[in-house]
Amino acid sequence: MSYLKVCVLRSSSSGNCTAIWTARSGILIDCAGIGLKEIEKDLNDIELDPSQINAIVITHGHEDHICKNTFKIAGRYGIPIYIHHDTYQVIKERYCVKNHQFKIMHHTEKPFIINDLKIMPFKTFHSGGYVGKPFGFCIEYKHNGSCRKVGLLTDTSKVTDSMVRMLYDCKCLIIECNHDTELAQDRSPNQLTWKEHLNNEAALEALIKIKKGSIDSVALKHVFLAHISERHNKPRTLISRISNGIRRENVKGCDLMLTYREKRTQVKEIL
Ligand SMILES: [Zn+2]
Ligand SMILES: [Zn+2]
Repeated sequence: MSYLKVCVLRSSSSGNCTAIWTARSGILIDCAGIGLKEIEKDLNDIELDPSQINAIVITHGHEDHICKNTFKIAGRYGIPIYIHHDTYQVIKERYCVKNHQFKIMHHTEKPFIINDLKIMPFKTFHSGGYVGKPFGFCIEYKHNGSCRKVGLLTDTSKVTDSMVRMLYDCKCLIIECNHDTELAQDRSPNQLTWKEHLNNEAALEALIKIKKGSIDSVALKHVFLAHISERHNKPRTLISRISNGIRRENVKGCDLMLTYREKRTQVKEIL
């Protein structure tokens, strides 16, 4: 039996958690803003046993990505937390992490392996508070000669060409569509933290570049629009705006999906 599945359990400035799993292994990317009971219920619903989870991989130190609940869940199930050393230094004191029952594993900027998944970190552009060193990830699953790739890119102010190249041929991409710049400027002209996040136009541009640079004809089949701002975006029109934008560029075959602050998405199997 071989499969690769993805479900975004939570995504917003109040919490983020994405599950990616195969028959042999499972990871959570970030795990915050979701309580122990809630995550247990979601995992049960998507038929992912917590004992199948081999790692919680952290993008950066903001509390919508790693929080007290992350340690509760890691402790309850003995799941190692993979975190860059610089980020760990920042959050360690904040949460008084000590005498815990889970391992802290330090990843670098180099790829690392978790069972049958290869995790490839890449740097993002994000600052403020307890950020540490921020990363996006490409997750690769090879089986019987075929290779399936999932990308996760949130909490970045921009997307560079090298990030685009990293994300070529991802069959599934979780990409930040944080805000509409005009709306953000209008509603929060003096509070500019939204500038640390990716706006809709930049996300659209990245999607077009990734699709056009990919060799795989089914690249970007599944696209989750993530980390959507409640105040500075309009989720109801977001999908049509992005799909009109990619259609104008003659980009086809992308299934766009919203992600939510208070509930999980559907499970997508990446074929
Ligand atoms: Zn965030
Ligand atoms: Zn952040």
